[in-house]
Amino acid sequence: MFVDTHAHLYLENFENDISATIERSINDGVQKIFLPNIDFSTIEPMRKLCHQFPQNCFPMLGLHPCDVKENYESDLETILDYIKEKLNLFPENKIYAIGECGLDYYWDKTFVPQQKKALEMQAEWALEMNLPIVLHTRDSFYDTLKIIEPFAKKGLTGVFHCFSGSMEEANQLLKLDTFLHGNWRSVDLQKCRNRRNRKKSTT
Ligand SMILES: [Zn+2]
Repeated sequence: MFVDTHAHLYLENFENDISATIERSINDGVQKIFLPNIDFSTIEPMRKLCHQFPQNCFPMLGLHPCDVKENYESDLETILDYIKEKLNLFPENKIYAIGECGLDYYWDKTFVPQQKKALEMQAEWALEMNLPIVLHTRDSFYDTLKIIEPFAKKGLTGVFHCFSGSMEEANQLLKLDTFLHGNWRSVDLQKCRNRRNRKKSTT
């Protein structure tokens, strides 16, 4: 059996054929799919899909670095409220990881200090709650490593996703033996985001 550690299948791009998409995935051996929300607005569609396919889709909660803006602290509070007070809204009253979160310097560097702070806060949640973390790391390798390494030494586990670094950088990550390393998926997410924004601006 394969496990997909990171898919945004609840986005509207998939809504017309989501059952067929998941059925194909199961038939091809990918029976477990972990779904990170992106921001506050994507919690509900993610939650619904997990209820629709409770044997196959599993929820994760965090704030994506591209959605860290001026008001990131209140966004994080809203997400934390789901984790602490509203877990009963998810199948089996639980989430499986914190994320996705991380640092993305590729699309926009306006909120780099806020991105760092938001990542630190979410790494603290993950460690406190004994949950893995899903890290989005794009053009931000050394800053991510600097923040995550002390947490990894305290036992934080997780997945590096959207890793855009070099082989040498990957080798440094391999030393964090509590972490797995994922492939590059953010382009797909950005396409979805662009499409979503285009739709918003035309309606
Ligand atoms: Zn993602």
